[in-house]
Amino acid sequence: MIFDQLEVTMIQSVVRPKGFDKPIYVTQPFLPPIEEFQDALSDIWESKWLTNNGPLVQKFQSMLGQVFDDQSISLVNNGTLGLQIALQSLGIAGEVITTPYSFVASTHALFWNKVRPVFCDIEEEYFTIDASKVEDLISPWTTAILGVHVYGNPCNDDALRDIARRHNIKLIYDAAHAFGVRVHGKSIANFGDLSVFSFHATKVFHSIEGGALVSNNKGVIKESNYLKNFGFENETEVVLPGTNAKMNEFQALMGICTLRYFDKIVDSRRELVDVYRKLLSTISGIKLVKELPDWVQYNYSYMPILIIENEFGCSRDQLYFKLREFNIFARRYFYPIISEFYCYRKIQRDADLGTALRISEQVITLPIFPDLKIEDVERICIIIAYVGRQKI
Ligand SMILES: *Cc1c(COP(=O)(O)O)cnc(C)c1O
Repeated sequence: MIFDQLEVTMIQSVVRPKGFDKPIYVTQPFLPPIEEFQDALSDIWESKWLTNNGPLVQKFQSMLGQVFDDQSISLVNNGTLGLQIALQSLGIAGEVITTPYSFVASTHALFWNKVRPVFCDIEEEYFTIDASKVEDLISPWTTAILGVHVYGNPCNDDALRDIARRHNIKLIYDAAHAFGVRVHGKSIANFGDLSVFSFHATKVFHSIEGGALVSNNKGVIKESNYLKNFGFENETEVVLPGTNAKMNEFQALMGICTLRYFDKIVDSRRELVDVYRKLLSTISGIKLVKELPDWVQYNYSYMPILIIENEFGCSRDQLYFKLREFNIFARRYFYPIISEFYCYRKIQRDADLGTALRISEQVITLPIFPDLKIEDVERICIIIAYVGRQKI
């Protein structure tokens, strides 16, 4: 269908559009051609090396060098343990200033290190931690800022780095959403003291489960390598009280096979986002995220939109539940914000989190994954327009 016709259909049609026969989820993991995975399995069977820094983990790590501008890398078996190890290896204690607008693991990692999270509000445009509000929250116990490149949108690193430097505290990034993002031509992993990526199946790039710690500081990555392997120096010497967070050979193999397709994955996502943006911009009450400046090379990892209830015709939650009737399973990432969860509700609130609260009540993230078709996106947009027009 061409756009002009579609726009007319969307605005004028009073006919209930047809829902999807099969459920469309917010995401679906990319899978490389099965032969490519199978072919390499025989090497694993041959060597019988399944985990503990095997040849595929080493190969995967060296392939990632290009993505991360040849910084030091430590591969781990998931992003959450990666965050916990990151905090340990940087000696983080006391309080850390972080964002409540993220996946709950960002804050859980602080808790597991007995660090008090100090929630800071987010900025309106890209939903990352509001750097202009961080400094007021610094106390004598503050040891770090933990920013999240939410949806792959880069945090304001210049401002955060300046604050961290002036107060002599660390700057850590949860980059779980930001694989492949480049800023002024450089990997986003160059930001801060250390970045943690997640390679979970639902992320833009994955190794089934997995993650990476990336830093310019070789010492910190060396420490992380000890920590993810019980602190073993050699057979008879343990130098740190570590944990077990090693990536295994099957994860690495999936990572290797998927990495070869990463550029294609991003291309297909970009096409879908272009269609979403073009069509949704014709519907009143839908606010798109501001386009990133052209010096950011984006990964199109999520498709968040904001629903402005009195203009759109119904609330975000009404839309969310209505879409399910059409077999569209959008998600409310990130609602509720982390500070609202039962386990964090009772800790002292240090700042007004008004923007994060408001965005969390307006946001809905729409399906996006490489196998989603352009026609599917068109149909999703038509259904959204229809739901808004019903004014339930
Ligand atoms: C997915 C995610 C994590 C956790 O990563 P896992 O690999 O699933 O443990 C942490 N932070 C954010 C923002 C995430 O989206």
